[in-house]
Amino acid sequence: MKRDKVLSWDEYFMGLAHLSAMRSKDPSTQVGACIVNPYNRVVGIGYNDDEFPWEREGSTLETKYVYVVHAELNAILNSTTSLQGCTLYVSLFPCNECAKAIVQAGIKKIVYESDKYADTDIVKASKRILNAAGVSLCQIEQAIKVSVEKIKL
Ligand code: ZN
Repeated sequence: MKRDKVLSWDEYFMGLAHLSAMRSKDPSTQVGACIVNPYNRVVGIGYNDDEFPWEREGSTLETKYVYVVHAELNAILNSTTSLQGCTLYVSLFPCNECAKAIVQAGIKKIVYESDKYADTDIVKASKRILNAAGVSLCQIEQAIKVSVEKIKL
């Protein structure tokens, strides 16, 4: 008998984004992203990462902000093909810097989960950039939680 409660495509790709986020070493924010082409094939995946300090406060050179590569940009840079017309799934709404890369890459749709920084200038600028480029923005209806259990063989 066929299983009827399978994940939707949106749930599946957002789940992949969350799984990818589990690779992040950032102690405060783990973000994952997954890029999918119009045939529902994954063509890029990423998480926020670097090997530098993870501090949030202090002198600029000791904070994470100047070093980190965001999940969206990692997914774009790691992509295996042209991203024209693709959809980006991301667990947190992209910042303005990622928005520029998303537009330049030709990504046409963003499915996001959290928008917890909506009131910041960074996200306001990001939305202005994405709207001006005609990228459609779509918040997933339900948050996705992925858990990985390791079981002794
Ligand atoms: Zn970003």
